[in-house]
Amino acid sequence: MTGWAVSEGLPEARNGFAAGSVVTPESRFSPAACARLVVKIGSSLLIDGAGAVRQDWLASVVADIAARRAAGQQIVVVSSGAIALGARRLQLARGGRASLEDAQAAAAVGQVALSAVWSRLLSDAGLTMAQVLLTLGDLEDRRRYLNVAATLDRLLALGAVPVLNENDTVATSEIRFGDNDRLAARAAQAAGAGGVILLSDVDGLYTANPARDASAALVPLVKAVTPEIEAMADGGSGSGLGTGGMAAKLAAARIAGAAGIHLAIADGRGMHPLAAFGASGRGTVFPGGDGARAKKAWLAGRLTVAGTLTIDAGAAAALRRGSSLLAAGVTAVEGRFARGDVVALVTGEGVHVGRGLAGYDAGDAVAIRGLRNEAQAAVLGYAPRAAMVHADHLVLL
Ligand code: GLU
Repeated sequence: MTGWAVSEGLPEARNGFAAGSVVTPESRFSPAACARLVVKIGSSLLIDGAGAVRQDWLASVVADIAARRAAGQQIVVVSSGAIALGARRLQLARGGRASLEDAQAAAAVGQVALSAVWSRLLSDAGLTMAQVLLTLGDLEDRRRYLNVAATLDRLLALGAVPVLNENDTVATSEIRFGDNDRLAARAAQAAGAGGVILLSDVDGLYTANPARDASAALVPLVKAVTPEIEAMADGGSGSGLGTGGMAAKLAAARIAGAAGIHLAIADGRGMHPLAAFGASGRGTVFPGGDGARAKKAWLAGRLTVAGTLTIDAGAAAALRRGSSLLAAGVTAVEGRFARGDVVALVTGEGVHVGRGLAGYDAGDAVAIRGLRNEAQAAVLGYAPRAAMVHADHLVLL
């Protein structure tokens, strides 16, 4: 199920790297090249040795975010630090990671403090923070994934800066990511982002652990995460504050790559780390694969669809221009499908226009077919979604 959020039929500047751009370490995830960017910040960067937030440093990150926003880039932040901050307040041993219960309690306390800092600093920079706490299930379950995707899309369209973290207080071991590197890669898919920058306390992937091996060299570009590349990574967090480590970053690069999203590991330790990465390009870049093709193959290649939406000529023309399918353009609904199932989009003459993930269960789709947005709420009993099939989740055949 990779590649959902990599859109086709939309202006490329919206979801990915601009057309024709060659991804090299020099591409630097600039606003011109990457319209939507996820920035992940690890606990060891955010929190100092005494367990307090590095406010001046974080203000410099926020200034970088504001500069990218002003240049037209939409930013989603994934911020760690809840457990480390809460552990300090509750005076828990081992940074709050001695037991799952400790980590959950620490996160409940620390997330409030973390949010408060982000909210204040973003607001000082004229930006509005939106807190989004996610569990693994929110991004694995197809319906919930679509809900998260729609919410992030709306928040970004409204100009807010979503600040994500795992909902560690309710995420137990079976249902948690455990590290924010993979969460950032999955969230990038959901957000339709073109790139992810993992700001870290190292400046990239080295051929061996640089702390132990003086001959270790930085690897600037990784085209595929092969067993040789994996052998270069240590497990675990170098600082002991986070959970990530290089192995989790490589796992994130795999997830992002399969979805056509570019990922970089860059040094976050200095002031203005995003500006520094933009200027130098120093780090390790993992260019994304052809996620658009993977998604198209996945959607187009399915032998069965759960249902069929018959659409009028106006809707078919709009889809070909890259628009979402609105209920108003649907003339008939067939099949028993649930929200998130694959449905065929067919004209009244029987021409197969495309396929996509249904935004509504069949029952609701029947109820609102042909209706304009204003008329839908009264029929549904809840506020309607943006589309019957969102452009991010459909392919034309
Ligand atoms: N979600 C954890 C926190 O906020 C951090 C996970 C990680 O270290 O990647 O403390």
